[in-house]
Amino acid sequence: MNWNRSSEAFAQAKPLMPGGVNSPVRAFNSVGRDPVYFDKGEGSRLWDLDGNEYIDYILSWGPLIHGHADKQVIDAIKETAEKGTSFGAPHVTETKLAELIIDRVPSVEVVRMTSSGTEATMSALRLARGYTGRSKILKFEGCYHGHTDSLLIKAGSGVATLGLPDSPGVPDSIASNTLTVPYNDLESLKLAFEKFGDDIAGVIIEPVTGNMGVVRPDPGYLEGIREVTEQYGSLLIFDEVMTGFRVGYNCAQGELGVTPDLTCLGKVIGGGLPAGAFGGRRDIMERIAPEGNIYQAGTLSGNPLAMTAGYETISQLTPESYEYFEKIGRRLEKGLAAAAEKHGIPHWTTRAGSMVGFFFTNEVVRDFETAKTSDLDMFSRYFNLMLENGVSVPPSQFEGLFLSTKHTEADIDKTLEAAEKAFSIMAYE
Ligand code: PMP
Repeated sequence: MNWNRSSEAFAQAKPLMPGGVNSPVRAFNSVGRDPVYFDKGEGSRLWDLDGNEYIDYILSWGPLIHGHADKQVIDAIKETAEKGTSFGAPHVTETKLAELIIDRVPSVEVVRMTSSGTEATMSALRLARGYTGRSKILKFEGCYHGHTDSLLIKAGSGVATLGLPDSPGVPDSIASNTLTVPYNDLESLKLAFEKFGDDIAGVIIEPVTGNMGVVRPDPGYLEGIREVTEQYGSLLIFDEVMTGFRVGYNCAQGELGVTPDLTCLGKVIGGGLPAGAFGGRRDIMERIAPEGNIYQAGTLSGNPLAMTAGYETISQLTPESYEYFEKIGRRLEKGLAAAAEKHGIPHWTTRAGSMVGFFFTNEVVRDFETAKTSDLDMFSRYFNLMLENGVSVPPSQFEGLFLSTKHTEADIDKTLEAAEKAFSIMAYE
């Protein structure tokens, strides 16, 4: 395999955009090579500029639940585009998608569309603050909710302390309104609430995490958070930008049986075009302008193209789709674990619906601390060997693999062959 054309394309881009990219992880910095430039996708497959073919487990970081260039989605986009891409006025497809979301997502009675996941979480925080009249937000170490100031926060030292900026440019005054506690640790959350409870507007959480790798909540953990937030009158916000329509037919909240006050969506609901949404209880959502006085807006929010792609994507998902994800997901998870076991490679695997986690550690991964015990050099080697064998996995240890309805059992078996080959080489290095 060679990547000459990809490297040429990257060399051209580098002086023009920071790091040559428009979103940092795409630069492949953590895996020590130039990024691959893709030319075309179809179903589970991708082809790059040099003509190399891959089975893809990134799927544009989650949105493409029916794989690349799904015919129904693409045909509908074309038909819609021919009539105009945006009117800046209400459009019937917004209503169709809103109905579908409200039907599927247990907590959502009213929904507002945005153009990204970041806008969805940012707006949900403003709503939580406006609704409760409080200023603090509580988040969890290792959870990512987009790049808005209030959420780009790392943990302060010790539990139940105020957050610190995770990036230059996030003012301390904003960071100090965000509390950070470890995931899967109810005692820390309770401690934070004992100290700051009356000031906490909302708790935002990935119900199953995707941004420290795939980590499932311990049994009873989300129920515990629900109880504490109710006790203190704080809103519970599920960030389902990644898990929404991936983890279950009724999203993670339907699968796990815990209903938040607000839910953030993105990725799958745009079917590969820019879209996000936040929604929840009617009495809370009614506070959003123009019905209420909490301001939120967007020039391209709800545009016909993104709404069409989202509608055609979600309406094709049936309960059987998730049974299929169980089947192929289990095959991938068990197969990766067996291949690693065979070659003495440290591993911890997890799965939630169509999201599969693989960590290079022998620890039980249940929070960010344990996720960070993964061997990142090993991950980088594995990533590169998989790529050379025609399998595209996310270029970060702290991301899960995504499956689509187009991935076949034969794709999984081919992937497992590549993993077996990679692990057998790594075992002797
Ligand atoms: N929340 C979660 C859970 C995410 O995974 C992401 C993106 N990876 C976001 C929010 C931000 O979404 P976007 O990149 O569309 O702004």
